[in-house]
Amino acid sequence: MAQIVKRAYKYRFHPTPEQANELARTFGCVRLVYNKALEERTRAYTQEGRRVSYVESSARLTEWKRSGDHDFLSEVSSVPLQQALRHLQAAFSNFFAKRAKYPTFKSRKKSRASAEYTRSAFRWRDGRLTLAKMDQPLDIVWSRPLPEGAEPSTVTVSKDAAGRWFVSILVEETIRPLDPVERSVGVDAGITSLLTLSTGEKITNPKHERADRRRLAKAQRNLARKAKGSSNRAKARMKVARVHARITDRRRDFLHKLTTRLVRENQVIAVEDLTVRNLVKNHALARAISDASWRELRTMLEYKAAWYGRDLVAVDRWFPSSRLCSACGALRETMPLGVRTWQCVCGTLHDRDVNAAKNILAAGLAER
Ligand SMILES: [Zn+2]
Repeated sequence: MAQIVKRAYKYRFHPTPEQANELARTFGCVRLVYNKALEERTRAYTQEGRRVSYVESSARLTEWKRSGDHDFLSEVSSVPLQQALRHLQAAFSNFFAKRAKYPTFKSRKKSRASAEYTRSAFRWRDGRLTLAKMDQPLDIVWSRPLPEGAEPSTVTVSKDAAGRWFVSILVEETIRPLDPVERSVGVDAGITSLLTLSTGEKITNPKHERADRRRLAKAQRNLARKAKGSSNRAKARMKVARVHARITDRRRDFLHKLTTRLVRENQVIAVEDLTVRNLVKNHALARAISDASWRELRTMLEYKAAWYGRDLVAVDRWFPSSRLCSACGALRETMPLGVRTWQCVCGTLHDRDVNAAKNILAAGLAER
């Protein structure tokens, strides 16, 4: 059955000086409104034991705009300010439901600057996006097309630590499940390769990763040499942020392609359980894939499997996937980390990771 999902498409864009200026002011106002509302909510909560509603915060915003020292708030689009209050409301709901910690202030340095525009605050015509308070559409780098006939419902503009501008466009999309396939796969987060599949295929880090890491190390060394507070240090910090951002982008792109392929090719995808794996802080076991990447991969597999009618099965981490012979079921007592290949009593010669991936698949199919 087809389902309608909301999906965000993120692009870089190049603002004109006027747009950059307008956005910088909007970011500042968003942060200010968020922080002021948080302050008032905190006061009401700690001193009066009272919860402030969104409606109440919104009324206060109107008062701030009228008061002399904050009248600049009415110079920017009101929608991103309202959205900031909605986000704060959501943060408090999560806090009261014990899903999250108490909301914290947005800092100029540490928080990502962003502003969210809903439908009434932007114009979308002939593939051109114009934000409120702006005359010209944004100069967006369309690195991939929006789906045919897509109607954006929300637009979020942000600027990262590397000084790059992004626009994230939320659209509703109809996604149809793929035709069922026979194949299934087990995925092992390997020690030497990034991932090993039960088919025997080993997925390694993309080639550029190593060069990128070297570049990052060099930029970091360079930063460490610069005097504190100097303009050269600021430049060096920007350089580090840029290399970082590039690494993150390329890795995400790689994980997207990989997960789409796994979901297309297989009906069932079995992986090790992540949550349990994280609880075990085993530093001796240096995995080729970092926990952050593994988490991202898991999340992508999860939603893509749901979209396309596939099954993602998580196998208990305590399942002895690397010590178990996938051919005869014999269990080895130990399996030191250094062992890459081993021969079972039944005579089968195993690659450690491929064998583990096969066991994960078998356990996943049994659990289903
Ligand atoms: Zn065996």
